[in-house]
Amino acid sequence: MPNSENYFSIQSELRDNDVELITVSKTKSVASIQSLYNLGQRSFGENYVQELTQKQKELPVDIQWHYIGHLQTNKVKYIAQFVHTIHAIDSLKLLIEVDKQAKKFNRKINCLIQVHVADEETKFGISINEIDKVVAEICQHNFKFACITGIMGMATNTDDTQKITGEFELIKKCFKHLKEKFFQENRSFRQISMGMSSDYKLAIKNGSTMVRIGSLIFGER
Ligand SMILES: *Cc1c(COP(=O)(O)O)cnc(C)c1O
Repeated sequence: MPNSENYFSIQSELRDNDVELITVSKTKSVASIQSLYNLGQRSFGENYVQELTQKQKELPVDIQWHYIGHLQTNKVKYIAQFVHTIHAIDSLKLLIEVDKQAKKFNRKINCLIQVHVADEETKFGISINEIDKVVAEICQHNFKFACITGIMGMATNTDDTQKITGEFELIKKCFKHLKEKFFQENRSFRQISMGMSSDYKLAIKNGSTMVRIGSLIFGER
């Protein structure tokens, strides 16, 4: 079951900074999600399509589901009817599919462009070198149902706080650059999704507007 004391203290810390909390419930039971819901939480993050669709069926309809993992193009159709935000858009192809599937249900899906700044080879996302080219292509499409609401990034998994800070600064800089170059007139483009259990305090200090916290609230996985 979730740690309600941690939940309330993190929630008030975030509120003071005007940062939105996404509680990451991957691998956690429907019952523990329901119990956090009963405390008032409405935004939950998941990273497996099958797990998400199963949980969505069993839980209240007013939950805002955030898909935070790497999403395969052929799986978009399974979540398009209900997903609120997709955090990890890493190609134009994926975004085209999101727009197409969202159109079928005549609904908007918020989309964050994932930028890659961390060391790890395994982390998905678009590199800083390529981001301008990809976003320029995205903007030419003028998507009606996939709504680009900002960017998402992850720092390297390390104890080196200077390194983490440097990476968060880079994500923030990238956001500002994209905002100025492509989204100046677009008020929807305003989110920086960065920060997890281990580094959310650094993320807030460096401009995060949305953190994704799992283990600190739901316990270790
Ligand atoms: C699992 C996960 C989180 C949450 O991680 P915690 O360390 O449990 O807070 C955040 N973001 C992404 C993309 C994840 O996959």
